[in-house]
Amino acid sequence: MDVTQRVLRVYQLDRQLTGLQARLKTAERFLAEQNKQLQALDTRRQALTVQSKQIAAAVANQETEIKGIDDRIEHIREQMNQARTNKDYKTFLTEINSLKADRSKVEEEALGRMAKSDEFKAQLEALETQRAERERMHDVADADCKARKAEISTRLAELQSERAKAVEEVPADVLAQYERLYELREEDAMAPVEISDRKRHEYNCGACMMSLPMEVSISLLGGKLTMCSNCQCILFLPAEAAEALTSNKK
Ligand SMILES: [Zn+2]
Repeated sequence: MDVTQRVLRVYQLDRQLTGLQARLKTAERFLAEQNKQLQALDTRRQALTVQSKQIAAAVANQETEIKGIDDRIEHIREQMNQARTNKDYKTFLTEINSLKADRSKVEEEALGRMAKSDEFKAQLEALETQRAERERMHDVADADCKARKAEISTRLAELQSERAKAVEEVPADVLAQYERLYELREEDAMAPVEISDRKRHEYNCGACMMSLPMEVSISLLGGKLTMCSNCQCILFLPAEAAEALTSNKK
């Protein structure tokens, strides 16, 4: 087995591993999306809760303020009842009227805030409903992920152990080069030499379709690790192309 065939073995196992895990990856992406949505809902819920609390505190302050004004009015009324002169009476009355004006201003503000608080409550309720729905979707996605994992676990372990063995047969620098390529290009990390014209002895790269010079085929036949000069993938010789090249050489 030459170096290309050894890398090819790893590549074929990687293709199987990628295929086997494709549905799991999709399920995992869906689950991650559900988690993201839940987090967004929680952030909004937190913001609404904080705003609601601030409004409730402001309303409570205004209720205290109103109570204070009422006490003050009550006190002035008592004084008014004991007023000796018309002038004193009028002074008290003016003060009461001014306090009443203040009171209705504060009351109006408090009512506005209470309306806002009701709005927040409605928004929070709607958000809770939305969150419950999203939570159900999340649970379905989570169960789906676990099922996919269980479904492939045996085969995955087999393939991983086969790969671990196959990798030992590949020189470290070649393996690193191949793994970089696979990370970037997956299926197109390696490509077969294809026969484009048997009679004219023309061959092309199975990934980028560019024609390959004869040196490339000779290098491959000689068992050397060979890259496509156009797309940089690692080339390999399928039996048919190897046979055509060998008979050509003769
Ligand atoms: Zn190519």
